[in-house]
Amino acid sequence: MTKKKFLLQEQDIPTAWYNVIADMPNKPRPMINPATHEPIKAEDLYPLFARACSDQEVNYTDPFIEIPEEVRELYRIWRPTPLVRAEGLERALDTPAHIYFKNESVSPVGSHKLNSAIAQAYYCKAEGVTNITTETGAGQWGAALSMAAKHFGLELAVYMVKISYEQKPYRRSIMQTYGAEVIASPSMSTKAGRKIITDHPNYNGSLGTAISEAVELAMSTPNCKYVLGSVLNHVALHQTVIGQEALKQMEMAGEMPDTVIACFGGGSNFSGIAFPFLRKNLKEGANIRFIAAEPSSCPKLTRGEFEYDFGDEAGYTPLIPMYTLGHNFSPANIHAGGLRYHGGGAIVSQLKHDGLIDAVDIPQLESFKAATLFARSEGIIPAPESSHAIASAIREALQAKVEGKKKVILFNLSGHGLIDMTAYDRYFANDLANYEVSDDEIARNTAQLEKILR
Ligand SMILES: *Cc1c(COP(=O)(O)O)cnc(C)c1O
Repeated sequence: MTKKKFLLQEQDIPTAWYNVIADMPNKPRPMINPATHEPIKAEDLYPLFARACSDQEVNYTDPFIEIPEEVRELYRIWRPTPLVRAEGLERALDTPAHIYFKNESVSPVGSHKLNSAIAQAYYCKAEGVTNITTETGAGQWGAALSMAAKHFGLELAVYMVKISYEQKPYRRSIMQTYGAEVIASPSMSTKAGRKIITDHPNYNGSLGTAISEAVELAMSTPNCKYVLGSVLNHVALHQTVIGQEALKQMEMAGEMPDTVIACFGGGSNFSGIAFPFLRKNLKEGANIRFIAAEPSSCPKLTRGEFEYDFGDEAGYTPLIPMYTLGHNFSPANIHAGGLRYHGGGAIVSQLKHDGLIDAVDIPQLESFKAATLFARSEGIIPAPESSHAIASAIREALQAKVEGKKKVILFNLSGHGLIDMTAYDRYFANDLANYEVSDDEIARNTAQLEKILR
């Protein structure tokens, strides 16, 4: 019998996060001030983010950054997470490929997001902050931060993208259970929200708008910081506990992956699983392939433009150098709400630009087909977001079958889908569609970008 699960002990929880920037041949360009185009320094970020996170954001030199003991202590609630050999899926596909997945769905809130939520809440508390604000798309990030905020005694206000607020009432209940205040975005409580509602009364909301609202509240409330669940360098950093554990577990399995896959919204779970393996390519001459699986309806890495853009819709954030569809891009209402973000973040975008990682785009129906096969063969119902990684892994495994090659595939199961059953219902009722974005629509949005990189 082959071994199914590879389990680590509590003492194997990593003691440091891995900062891939230190090892990158071309560092990401700095974030810049939109008015002056001057590079952003850590001090410029202090009014908005915790100081420790601001410092991590611009740390281009230290490959490893120590994880505070209080953070590791909380990680012990569910870490280390299992690495699982997907034998059932391999059999269902009749593939010679070996497929492994890292199961981040076992966290108390059902996704990887808690890895950074705990770190950021800890730093806010340690610096004397009392209130925090954030945005959430599908509700995963809001749920994670609600738990972390409660633990550290912080008051939290969450702006939740309106379409998800309505489609995913249980995520709202989860946040409220942990004691957070949840506001549907766009809302009338901020200038950014009021403007969007006035311009587009039926707007369903987007992560970009919700970020604008949360940032505005943080800037106008004393002793309040803003906390972001993806995209930024320090969030990617916190997620690298995933890949560091997986690296040890693949060694236990006696194999190394030749392909590492994760779904891609703002890049945090992709960075988390990929960067510790990418270090093998950068430092040890390994030749692992990395695939970011994004939705066809929001294809920033595969079809976006590499340019400076805002991280939010209203343009409150610094300009970030990244693959982007333009900050006004309004993605279709797919059920993988966590993947509906316009930009790819600075680190991943630079890596893509340099050919060090690949990206694919997955149509919505293919993601649900993959999700259903995975549920039926592995027993876990995946989050609609994670299903994009599964679909990409299935493509790779079927390709291995065509080529008659053994291949070792590792993907990140970023979360479970037990609170997303409305989406599955609609899939089974043939009520879901694919959304292709036209070249025209992308060009129209990216044409509005200030051209700084050329
Ligand atoms: C938020 C989320 C994502 C997408 O965000 P990334 O920052 O790209 O990882 C993917 N999967 C799940 C389960 C999520 O909650």
